[in-house]
Amino acid sequence: MGYNHVNILYFGKRCEIPIRKAESMKIHGLQKLTLLDFPGRTACTVFTAGCQLRCPFCHNAALAFGDPGPALDEAEFFKFLAKRQGLLEGVCITGGEPLLQAGLPDFLSRVREMGYLVKLDTNGFLPDRLAALIEQGLVDYVAMDIKSSPQGHAKACGLDTMDMQPVRESIALLMGGGVDYEFRTTVVRGIHEESDMAEAARLIEGADRYFLQQYVDPGDQGGSGLSAFSAQEMQRFAEAAKPYVKNIGIRGV
Ligand code: SF4
Repeated sequence: MGYNHVNILYFGKRCEIPIRKAESMKIHGLQKLTLLDFPGRTACTVFTAGCQLRCPFCHNAALAFGDPGPALDEAEFFKFLAKRQGLLEGVCITGGEPLLQAGLPDFLSRVREMGYLVKLDTNGFLPDRLAALIEQGLVDYVAMDIKSSPQGHAKACGLDTMDMQPVRESIALLMGGGVDYEFRTTVVRGIHEESDMAEAARLIEGADRYFLQQYVDPGDQGGSGLSAFSAQEMQRFAEAAKPYVKNIGIRGV
């Protein structure tokens, strides 16, 4: 956390004292209108930098673990939101991993005070922070990634090994009520096997909504060996996952 210095008169002597600055968000992108990101709502999307994972199919690698470029001014963002009041219904927060931002709760409080609904995207690795936002009523909809089956999770996250416990805690938290949610898996040839689909769905058994998303090369993954599955293959994967969840959908085909 940074500090501002304030010059004061103290027993007749001038001195500077440090005042803790409120944490600000590191906003590195703004999509001013989306009709897709927040189900059933018109919204804008805020992009935050930084992620603890290294998914080989990352849709936003520069933002997540490269050079995100200069941050946007938070005050300018709130001016934008003030102008859109009555036109937009919600604000989507995506990344990177937004829960890494220490300033997120304050930021969301301000967004909510202006009357906006909040949708949060997360990889599910920070259940305590997610729980705090839900308890404080700062989110209305959470979209959590299920990267793969338990055995395929580390590969999909670009890690050698990983502890599934935080992911399981986030799943339990969302399925425990308190906020609308969806789970989603971006399905990638070169990362996922057909057998991962049912195992991934079993992780969220009984979930209200699960979406399989077709992989799209964001433009910088040529030569990586990753590619999309066909519409028919995606349909087959959905059939494999369907017995475990209440509703399943396919996106992108
Ligand atoms: S969790 Fe999301 S932002 Fe982070 S590396 Fe994976 S795809 Fe990229």
